[in-house]
Amino acid sequence: MRLGAIEGGGTKMVLGVYDEAFNLLEHTSLPTTVPNETIPAMCSFFEDKGIDALGIANFGPLNLRASSDTYGTILNTPKLAWQRYPLLHTFRDALGVPCEIDTDVNAATLAECELGAAKGLKNCLYFTVGTGIGGGLYLEGNLIHGLMHPEWGHMLLLRHEEDPLLHGICPYHPNCVEGFASGPAMQTRWGIPAKDLPADHRGWELEAYYLGQLCANALMTVSPEMILMGGGVMHQENLLPMVRHQMLKFVNSYVDIEQLPDMEDYIKAPALWPNSGLIGAGLLAKKELESQ
Ligand code: ADP
Ligand code: ZN
Repeated sequence: MRLGAIEGGGTKMVLGVYDEAFNLLEHTSLPTTVPNETIPAMCSFFEDKGIDALGIANFGPLNLRASSDTYGTILNTPKLAWQRYPLLHTFRDALGVPCEIDTDVNAATLAECELGAAKGLKNCLYFTVGTGIGGGLYLEGNLIHGLMHPEWGHMLLLRHEEDPLLHGICPYHPNCVEGFASGPAMQTRWGIPAKDLPADHRGWELEAYYLGQLCANALMTVSPEMILMGGGVMHQENLLPMVRHQMLKFVNSYVDIEQLPDMEDYIKAPALWPNSGLIGAGLLAKKELESQ
C-alpha cells in the first residue's frame, strides 16, 4: 500500500508517500503560490509514485459537510487565490484514486491519537498554538465534525485585567483565544516575536492564563481524556507547566482533584510534531482506502 499525503500550508505544501507501516518513502515541499501553479506541480509529484489513495491535511476553513456538493472546497480564507477552490475534487479528478481531506489540525489530531502521544485513548483533544490557534477533537476513532469543523481558536475568553492589550488582535472577536494567545498576539502585545521573548518574561504568565482558560473550558465541555499542545509557541518549555497550573486555577476545585490524572499526564506535548500533519494526511488516505 502506498499512501499519498499532503500537508497544505499558507507558505508551503509538504508532500509525502508512506507505506502501510507509515515509513516515509518519498517527500518534497513546494511553495504555496496560486492554484494554477501549485496544483499542477503537486499532481506531477504524485503522478509516477503509484499511490493507492491520497490524504490532504489543509489550512482551513474547509467545507467538510459530508452531504454538500462542494465537500472538500476551501472556504473564506484570507489567502484570496484559494477561496472557494475545490481542492478535494481537483485531486480526485487528476489522480483517479480515493482521496480524503480534513483540516491540518484535525489530521495532526488523528496522527497523535492513532500513532502518537494519545495512542490507545478513546478520546483526546489536540491544540496547536502558533500563528493561529486551532484544535481537533478525536472521539472513538473519529474526528468530530458537525455543522462545520470546530473552531477552538475563536472560543471567547475572559481578558486578564492587567493585559496591555485592551482587546485581542482577531478581526472578528475582541476577546478570543487566537486574538489573545497566538504568536502574533504576543508579538503585538510585547513588540517582539514570541520566540524571542525571554523565558522569565511576564508575558508567559499571561499566555498561560489564556491557554489555561482554554483547557479548563475544554475539560468542562468535552471532557477529553488527554489534552495535547503543540505549535511554535509551545516550544517555550516553561509554558506547559504554567498552563497546567492555570487550568487547575480556572477549574477551581469544581472537579474533584482525585478524578483528574496527574497534570503531567493530562496536558502534554505531542509526540509526532512537527510531522503529525503529514502523518495524519497519510492516515486519512488509509482510512479512505479501507472504506472503499
Ligand atoms: P505556523 O502556525 O505558522 O504553522 P508555528 O507553529 O511555527 O507556525 O508558529 C509560529 C509562532 O511560534 C510564531 O509566532 C513564533 O514567534 C512562535 N515560536 C516559534 N518558536 C518559538 C519558541 N522557541 N518559543 C516561543 N515561540 C516560538
Ligand atoms: Zn476570533
